[in-house]
Amino acid sequence: MTGRLQHKVALITGAGSGIGLESAILFAQEGANVLLVDINLEAAQKGAELISKRYPNVKAIATKADVGKEVDVKAAVEKAVQVFGRLDVMFNNAGIMHPADDNALNTEERIWDLTMQINLKGVWWGCKYAILAMRENPTDEFKGLHTGGSIINTASFVAIMGAATPQLAYTASKGGVLAMTRELAMVHAREGIRINSLCPGPLKTPLLMDFLNTAEKKERRLTHLPMGRFGEAVELAKAALFLASDDSSYMTGTDFKVDGGLTSAYVTPL
Ligand code: NAD
Repeated sequence: MTGRLQHKVALITGAGSGIGLESAILFAQEGANVLLVDINLEAAQKGAELISKRYPNVKAIATKADVGKEVDVKAAVEKAVQVFGRLDVMFNNAGIMHPADDNALNTEERIWDLTMQINLKGVWWGCKYAILAMRENPTDEFKGLHTGGSIINTASFVAIMGAATPQLAYTASKGGVLAMTRELAMVHAREGIRINSLCPGPLKTPLLMDFLNTAEKKERRLTHLPMGRFGEAVELAKAALFLASDDSSYMTGTDFKVDGGLTSAYVTPL
């Protein structure tokens, strides 16, 4: 049986935890060689070791990069190409939610700048170097590999909906990811490079759970979720796999929502 990412090479940022880690595991299960990138090298290495043990037919390696630094992003993409020979899937997934990110009056400029640096500029640089690498992909008729590729950028439901529990810089950064992704998708559509956004609803990962550190804070959100629960990282990884694979070959520029119905909700069930 062939996997949905057989022979492909994927780079995933924020691969040490949550969506990124689950995606690295799933992509490898589907036959991809994976470069796990994270600012937390130890976490990314653990992920790579787990994958290597579980799926010995693929290669998984880890590298440290701060996506808020262009040189790091460039080096990570170059490493994928150097080690694996090509880049087919770029998952720009790393992001932060700073505890001091608040409303327009309380958010400090340094928090705003840090959030934009990682969440928005990091995605821009990830796209920039992935596009350059994907243009150089050698065609391999035998393995069915072509030039071009798939870029996935993690945005958020807050890019689409207003929240009365503000994190202004985070929300603005994710809105930027959505708008930027659409434009990039148009510019590169004829090069065979598909670029889509993944819009998760609230998930049970450290990013959100560290932030919602009381039952009251969790309940404030849960009441608005039609399915009555937070999502799981693996549920997003499955959507990322779809966008990464040729199963989504006619999709580009989309805001792919995986949110338990949140963005369709008015009144939710009791
Ligand atoms: P997570 O905290 O489980 O994982 C994030 C990973 O990113 C961590 O391993 C962390 O070390 C890494 N990281 C942080 N800053 C980095 C940097 N500068 N460079 C490289 N790596 C860095 O979080 P998650 O929930 O899996 O979040 C993944 C993405 O999904 C983020 O972009 C987040 O904004 C988005 N998202 C999450 C939720 C949610 O509810 N968890 C909802 C919508 C969108």
